[in-house]
Amino acid sequence: MRSRLAVAVTLLLLVTPAAALAQDARAALQAAAKALGATDLKSYEMTASGENWATGQSPAPGSPWPRFVIKSLTRSVNYETASVRDVWVRTQGEDPPRGGGVQPVRGEQRQVFVVSGDHAWNVVNDAAIPAPIALAARQLELWATPHGVIRAAQASNAAVQGRLIVFAAPGRYHARATLDRANLVARVHALIPNPVLGDIPIVFEYADYKDFGGVKFPTRIKQTAGGFPTLDLTVTEVRANVPVDVTVPDNVRSATAPYATVTPQMVADGVWYLTGGTHHSVVIEMSDHLVVVEAPLNDERALAVLKEARGLAPNKTVRYVINSHHHFDHAGGLRAFAAEGVTMITHEINRPYFDRAFAARATIEPDQLTKSGRKAAAVEGVRDKRVLTDGTRSIEIHHIAGNTHDDGLLMVYLPKERLLSQADTFTPPPANTPPPMPPSPFTLNLVDNLARLGLTVDRLLPLHGRIVPLADLYQAAGRAN
Ligand SMILES: [Zn+2]
Repeated sequence: MRSRLAVAVTLLLLVTPAAALAQDARAALQAAAKALGATDLKSYEMTASGENWATGQSPAPGSPWPRFVIKSLTRSVNYETASVRDVWVRTQGEDPPRGGGVQPVRGEQRQVFVVSGDHAWNVVNDAAIPAPIALAARQLELWATPHGVIRAAQASNAAVQGRLIVFAAPGRYHARATLDRANLVARVHALIPNPVLGDIPIVFEYADYKDFGGVKFPTRIKQTAGGFPTLDLTVTEVRANVPVDVTVPDNVRSATAPYATVTPQMVADGVWYLTGGTHHSVVIEMSDHLVVVEAPLNDERALAVLKEARGLAPNKTVRYVINSHHHFDHAGGLRAFAAEGVTMITHEINRPYFDRAFAARATIEPDQLTKSGRKAAAVEGVRDKRVLTDGTRSIEIHHIAGNTHDDGLLMVYLPKERLLSQADTFTPPPANTPPPMPPSPFTLNLVDNLARLGLTVDRLLPLHGRIVPLADLYQAAGRAN
């Protein structure tokens, strides 16, 4: 991946004197900026509708991302402050719901995603929730817009050859933009860091340009991530140079390492529930080693979880990490575990996917695994059931069969302690809030699986939410316990 971009730049540099190249590149970028009307464009607001898909949330490895219908997207962009605010109003696209990305959506769902400079956050019920994990993708959203990509290319000494513009923002992304015959940006191919895959290619396609008050803007925007569609928009309105003020909230500015906060709670002898953020883990102590359930999010979270686990049971090494499912948010810490030689247990259908993912280097921003020099990790597959035991404690790993959230969902059951840990099939709502109505099909399926397997559960240690008694699950499923 890296090599193709690097080779293109290197070839350009070899065949022409540097000064002449730089001058040609500057002139070409100025011409492209002029064609777009980008020269004086400082900000804009765009209204669109269409479809989007939840990146990293496919129902199985190798299948498309799940689809949602975009009733409206209002995108406000300010190039001078490097800010984008997206307000999405979306409805369910998959019926029945299949895959992740906060499904099922009932009625209309409003989402607000923001980036400004080096800060990314979401707005949920007027509260700003820091989302640094989304920073790379959102910064790219800004600088891969037609006018943004020309600005970014001008700022980073891009190489230009014919209609191809090649440049990089070191540590953030590599980009290749292609101009059409009218000198308008037709395509941007970019590579950004990804916690599961190392790097992920993102492609933007722009078509059907129209003039909006002197600024040319595409009325058709399509995107893919990792080869599958993520966005298909029809733009209805663009208001150029309207004021766009995006202020970074204080709590976002001060949240420098939100994923590193780990709060352990002992729930049984040698069993700890690790919280502190959006995604939890469980640490289980065996006679001569430790087992960690879930390595979510990214390197930062994984290193914090590993450190905490080792502090809870000094002198014991982490031998296994159990992965609940392959979604990006639940698997993003696995590369850091692999870097330290921890064996991963996942569903059998995920094994080839993770074998490939761990063999890939993170070229844009080298991560723990890339820095470790390891090119493979021990990945063990479970089809229906596997038991880990040290003669005293048993850990049962079961497939949550037939769950449309993910084909390869695993849950972890401790028979002696009567504890159950799972992700995304049941997330307990905050205390004293009513369960969703009608019940989620993912939750109903979990209840069916517990009955089928005859598991006796007292408490749940969900990988989102909080510890609850089994009764809360039955209540959420609308069934008698
Ligand atoms: Zn999921």
